Amino acid sequence: MHRLYENDDIVILWNSDRCQHAKACRHGSPETFDPTRRPWIQLGNAENAKVWKAVENCPSGALSILYRHGIEVVMDPDNCRSIARDGDRVIGECEYQASPSGWCIYHTGVSPEHEGKGIAKRLVYKVLEAAEKQSIAVSATCSYAAKVISE
Ligand code: SF4
Repeated sequence: MHRLYENDDIVILWNSDRCQHAKACRHGSPETFDPTRRPWIQLGNAENAKVWKAVENCPSGALSILYRHGIEVVMDPDNCRSIARDGDRVIGECEYQASPSGWCIYHTGVSPEHEGKGIAKRLVYKVLEAAEKQSIAVSATCSYAAKVISE
């Protein structure tokens, strides 16, 4: 299961398949990480620096954290994609083909001036999260998306 959690400044990505439930995150920031709560990750209750350190101490790699850079990542289901927006401008997308057997991601791209900010990973996670919430299987011919899925 892939999920994104964000506030104005940071984005946390969580891959439950890798989570060993070692609770290092909870010890690092109990205000943010609480498995008895839904959603279990809630930003805004602790300073970002404390949250960042807690994520870095995750022993499994289930958690990763990125700066948001003011970029919004949302689903655009009518066009079978997730998109990244810098204000009104679309600066990245993750496109998939929908079929009865599931979604197949065939392209992920971010405009050159926004590369290196983790936006492509957020785009792929957004598609995975949306598919999983609808119990839709996801595959990828896009090599980048396939790498994220296999991580
Ligand atoms: S520290 Fe990482 S592995 Fe442990 S519970 Fe938190 S997310 Fe899962």
